[in-house]
Amino acid sequence: MTNWTLAARAAKMNSSAIREILKLTDRPGIISMAGGLPAPASFPISAFTQACNTVMERDGAAALQYSTTEGFPALRQAIADFLPWDVSPEQILITTGSQQALDLIGKIFMDKGSRILVEKPTYLGALQAFTPFEPVAVGVNSDSEGMLIDDFAAKVGSGEDKARVAYILPNFQNPTGRTMSEERRQALVDKAKELDIPLVEDNPYGDLWYEGEPALPLAARNPEGVIYMGSFSKVLAPGLRVGFIVAPKSVYGKLTQAKQAADLHSPSFNQRVVAEVMKDGFLASHIPTIRAMYKVQRDVMLVALEREMEGLDVHWTRPVGGMFLWVTLPQGMNAQDLLPEAVERGMAFVPGAPFYADEAEHNTLRLSYVTVSPEQINKGIAALAAAIRAQLAK
Ligand code: PMP
Repeated sequence: MTNWTLAARAAKMNSSAIREILKLTDRPGIISMAGGLPAPASFPISAFTQACNTVMERDGAAALQYSTTEGFPALRQAIADFLPWDVSPEQILITTGSQQALDLIGKIFMDKGSRILVEKPTYLGALQAFTPFEPVAVGVNSDSEGMLIDDFAAKVGSGEDKARVAYILPNFQNPTGRTMSEERRQALVDKAKELDIPLVEDNPYGDLWYEGEPALPLAARNPEGVIYMGSFSKVLAPGLRVGFIVAPKSVYGKLTQAKQAADLHSPSFNQRVVAEVMKDGFLASHIPTIRAMYKVQRDVMLVALEREMEGLDVHWTRPVGGMFLWVTLPQGMNAQDLLPEAVERGMAFVPGAPFYADEAEHNTLRLSYVTVSPEQINKGIAALAAAIRAQLAK
């Protein structure tokens, strides 16, 4: 045994509650709706094989050499061309997954005790990324369209205690699956501008829409007031660890310095491969295949919930894109207590409480529908309903 003294920060770090739960539920035979992984069938393996060969043959040593912190110019250009508003490649910083973007944002904006605003609930990985900087994360009340503007304004605070950033997921939110309406987006951007609060917009799922394209991103409405994060994890492959930030000029330099200190740059080879795969409009043909696949699975899950939850006081969101759906159990039922009942019956989910920055709603849970087949969805939702009935009978 050593007697080493770790930083106070290390004591605050914790493994994601989800990863802990996955250890229990990733057993053979369990139908897991708990994970957040994209469907492996969506990875374009042959396009990658070709692109890897091209990059090695064409670029050779350059693909294996150190490169600039900002990122591979052709990839930054391809991203600027792909985004649905006017973005200059100079504003784009390539990151090692968008998870790194969260860390960099924490580094440049958050001191111990800094107030930050988050949705209720929000992405657990963001709470984890911000925690080492010891901010005070305040949950803003939200409805089916996202943050309520009045509560946002009421919680911004002032003076020393004014919120440093507000972190928002407008499209097919992880964990709820909800999407902000056109009106709410504009109202939030206007209010944030008025109060001079930077918005951090996290949009890894925005291209995975099933019922028409979502309204324009927050960043498109006020590019100098929004730090936008994107990712190739859900439209190409998460193992590449390639994401990006579109940053206002005022913070681009600081984010780049923070990244330089963190990892110098994201992998040169991966960046070149993504740029090569993106050539000639590949995403425009590839993304619709993912949408089509996920839409079928979402539909099966919605029908299964309708059928199996009949007569129960259980409610759920109807996501119009993305990978997740959010379930509200009868008042007083704790999803954490329900989990063993569900696992015993052969299915797993993630309890909702860890997704809340402050007061949690314990009667909530998240379901992912993208890595389970229609047959598994039907069986899994029936098992969930049986677990809820058993819990109610206790
Ligand atoms: N933001 C959200 C909302 C996510 O769901 C995820 C992945 N689960 C990330 C960021 C991080 O993704 P990546 O680092 O793979 O880009």
